[in-house]
Amino acid sequence: AETVLITQQSHEELRKVIDANKTAAPDQQRLVVVSVSPQSRASLAAQFGLNPTDTARKLTAFFKKIGVHYVFDTSFSRNFSLLESQREFVQRFRGQADSQQALPVLASACPGWICYAEKTHGSFLIPYLSTVRSPQQVMGSLVKDFFAQQQHLTPDRIYHVTVMPCYDKKLEASRPDFFSQDYQTRDVDCVVTTGEVFKLLEEEGVSLSELEPAPLDSLCSSVSAQEPSSHRGGGSGGYLEHVFQHAARELFGIHVDEITYRPLRNKDFQEVTLEKEGQIVLHFAAAYGFRNIQNLVQKLKRGRCPYHYVEVMACPAGCLNGGGQLKAPNTPGKELLQRVETLYSMVRTEAPEDAPGIQELYRCWLQGEGSERAGRLLHTSYHAVEKASSSLGIRW
Ligand code: SF4
Repeated sequence: AETVLITQQSHEELRKVIDANKTAAPDQQRLVVVSVSPQSRASLAAQFGLNPTDTARKLTAFFKKIGVHYVFDTSFSRNFSLLESQREFVQRFRGQADSQQALPVLASACPGWICYAEKTHGSFLIPYLSTVRSPQQVMGSLVKDFFAQQQHLTPDRIYHVTVMPCYDKKLEASRPDFFSQDYQTRDVDCVVTTGEVFKLLEEEGVSLSELEPAPLDSLCSSVSAQEPSSHRGGGSGGYLEHVFQHAARELFGIHVDEITYRPLRNKDFQEVTLEKEGQIVLHFAAAYGFRNIQNLVQKLKRGRCPYHYVEVMACPAGCLNGGGQLKAPNTPGKELLQRVETLYSMVRTEAPEDAPGIQELYRCWLQGEGSERAGRLLHTSYHAVEKASSSLGIRW
């Protein structure tokens, strides 16, 4: 069933929905919403020789031209993922003594990693996983709950597509946890990769560089999204950096301006520490790629994992290097990745707590931080499946 759901997620499906809208009666049409990830934007910017802001605006123009109604930026939903991750970490660190929830907290934004964790070490690893939804799935909540209400539509009347750097995001969108039984609809109906967007551009005979830019859409009517935004930290969302800085301030009263990473076994396994009075009080790590993940799991199983928090990502070098990103035939992979990283970091960054609209949405939409509603719409759960991944196309 999962495989069928995944094959339903393609740029052809998006086109079918747009075509169906053209002939459907008004009350049968679906509002088409596309949410674009900053990693995909950077990959397309490199491909077309554009800056990220122009890429975001031209991509908006392209989607509107083919019949999409709204185009959003998943950096907006990432604000919630980061804030919830910060809060969760501090709570779990403080509650360490009664051992209700285990440390280290293992980041959960990467579905490749989550799938591996559930299917190979489910009952052992699940207590460590952060329960925070990934930016894609927070966007799913925002679009199918908040935005649907704003538009006076039921969630099934919205067709929500995300543009992502990897295929495993299709698997994430298909999880039963993100399906509404009441409305028989998913929070994210279709995930297309950056490469599939490029195919769509080619099939439509459109070159992104030649399009007139269009203004970005904003989910919150009180906020005008003039230009795309992003967050500090690496191309996988900056989880380690945000959680570390927040925890240093909140738990130890220490303000950390710059994070200094110390490479361990290789550049994809790095650690960061915070010292107070000569003692290490915070010990974080980033483990990217399957080799490093296996190493981390071994450490945990042997009871020799010194970390309080680990940002775990399945792809070596993280999301900017995801399997759904564009390849350039005449450019070596390393050079292309460097270009994409530079473009990714060119975008204006903001602290998630200061991002316009976030506090307002916590108040009006979620009924406050830490509320039951915030728990339901911004968090998720995991399920142990103690057998190896089979035909789901997980790449390692
Ligand atoms: Fe997808 Fe790779 Fe990022 Fe994981 S690390 S979310 S598999 S692109």
